[in-house]
Amino acid sequence: MSHRTWVCLSCQKSYRRVQTISNVSCALCGQACEYVHWKLHIPSPKKTREWKEFWTQYLHEKNLIAQFHADPTLKQIDLPLLNQRHSKQ
Ligand SMILES: [Zn+2]
Repeated sequence: MSHRTWVCLSCQKSYRRVQTISNVSCALCGQACEYVHWKLHIPSPKKTREWKEFWTQYLHEKNLIAQFHADPTLKQIDLPLLNQRHSKQ
């Protein structure tokens, strides 16, 4: 059974859960955790700068995907962290 990694950004804590679970709340603070693709390497929270840069970029790209779906004039987006390119006709 494959797993996903979920991360609470507030507590900097990660949780491994089976793939069928679609949302995870942090056991410490109860906030919704972020799901990260297994191929992505999440930096150690001890490396404060890398950790912060990773999550800033991750949330930025996630936001871009939402914009891309909401805005028909947006034809293409590049997501270097997620290693994806989304485009439409
Ligand atoms: Zn938490």
